[in-house]
Amino acid sequence: RKLGIALVGLGSYATNQLAPGLQQTQYCRLAGIVTGTPAKAEQWMQKYNIPKQNVYDYKTFDRIADNRDIDVVYVVLPNSMHAEYVIRAAQAGKHVICEKPLAIMPKECQDMIDACKKANRQLAVGYRLHYEPFTREVMRLGQEKVFGKVKFVEASDGFRIGDPTQWRLKKAMAGGGPLMDVGIYAIQGARYVTGLEPVSVTAQFGPKTDLQKFKEVEETLFWQFQFPGGVVSNSTTSYAAGVERLYASCENGWFELSPAFGYGPLKGRTSKGPIEQPIVHHQANHMDNICKVLLNNETLPDHITGQEGLRDVRLMQAIYQAAETGRRIDLKA
Ligand code: NAD
Repeated sequence: RKLGIALVGLGSYATNQLAPGLQQTQYCRLAGIVTGTPAKAEQWMQKYNIPKQNVYDYKTFDRIADNRDIDVVYVVLPNSMHAEYVIRAAQAGKHVICEKPLAIMPKECQDMIDACKKANRQLAVGYRLHYEPFTREVMRLGQEKVFGKVKFVEASDGFRIGDPTQWRLKKAMAGGGPLMDVGIYAIQGARYVTGLEPVSVTAQFGPKTDLQKFKEVEETLFWQFQFPGGVVSNSTTSYAAGVERLYASCENGWFELSPAFGYGPLKGRTSKGPIEQPIVHHQANHMDNICKVLLNNETLPDHITGQEGLRDVRLMQAIYQAAETGRRIDLKA
C-alpha cells in the first residue's frame, strides 16, 4: 500500500517539485489537494487524476478527517500559515509533513508538536537534504571525524530574489528575510557537519542596497556560531546575491559541497578527491523515507521531526537578536 498525501498550498514548490516527485515515489502517492483557487483545482484534478472528493479549499479542509484516502497532509504554505494548517491537520487525525521553517516563532512550533502528539500523529519537517546522499556523506565525514575533528565550518546560502511583491519579502508572512528562507540550510549544515549544537551566536546585518524591496526584512545577514570545544562556524545568507557552499576544515584535511543546498545535483570534494554519490530526486526520496517509517508504524528519527524544526527556529530568533543588539547571545541547550 502507498500512503495518500494531500498537498496544502499549490504554489511553486508543490507544483514544480513535490507533485512531480510524487510520480516517482514507492511508499506514497498524490491523493488530494487543498487550494483556494478553483482553476488550480481543475488543472490538478485533470493532470494527476485526483477525484473531486479529495479536493478541498481552506474552509472545507477540516472535512479531510473523514477521508480515508488521505493519510498524510503536507503543508506547503507561506511560513506564517504553517502552524494553523499543521494543527488543523493533526486535529483531523492525519500525519503531517510541514515545509521549512517549521514556523516563525518557537511557541508556534511547540504548539504544532503538542497538537500532533495529542492526536497521536507524527510531524515531519521538509528537510529534504537529510536523506540526500551527498549530504549524508558530509554528515558522516564530519560526525565520524574521518578527516579528524572539524575545526571550523563555512556554510552559506543565498540567491538574488525577483518579484518585489512576493510574500517572502513581507515580515508578517515570512518572519524575516533570507535567513528564514535559505539561511536555515546554512544553520542545518553547520549543525549536521559538526554533529554539535551551538552554545552562543554573534550576528551582523549587511547593508540594504534596495530599500524598496527590503523595507520589511533583511537583505543580507552574517552570523557566527560557537560550538563546544572551540569549534566555530561562519555563515552568510542573502537575497542580493548567490552563494551556496558548505565547507569544513578539519584537523587532517577538508571537505565541501558546492552547490550544497539546492535541488541538485549536489557536488562535493574532499582533500583526498571528489565525493561520488548517487543522484536522487530530493523530494521523492524525502517523502518516501518518511512514508516508509509511517507505513511500518515506526517512530520518525529525531533529525526529521518537529523537534528538529523547533531547534532551528530558536536559533534563527537568536541570530536576529544577536544582529539587533550587537551582543553575543548564549544559547540554551
Ligand atoms: P509560493 O508563493 O510559490 O506558494 C505559496 C502557496 O500558498 C501559493 O499556492 C499561494 O496561493 C498559497 N497561499 C495561500 N494563502 C496565501 C496567502 N495568504 N498569501 C500568499 N500565498 C498564499 O511559495 P513556495 O515557494 O511554494 O513556498 C511554500 C513553502 O515551501 C514555504 O514555507 C517555503 O519555505 C517552502 N519551500 C521549501 C523548499 C525546500 O526545498 N524544502 C523550497 C521552496 C519552498
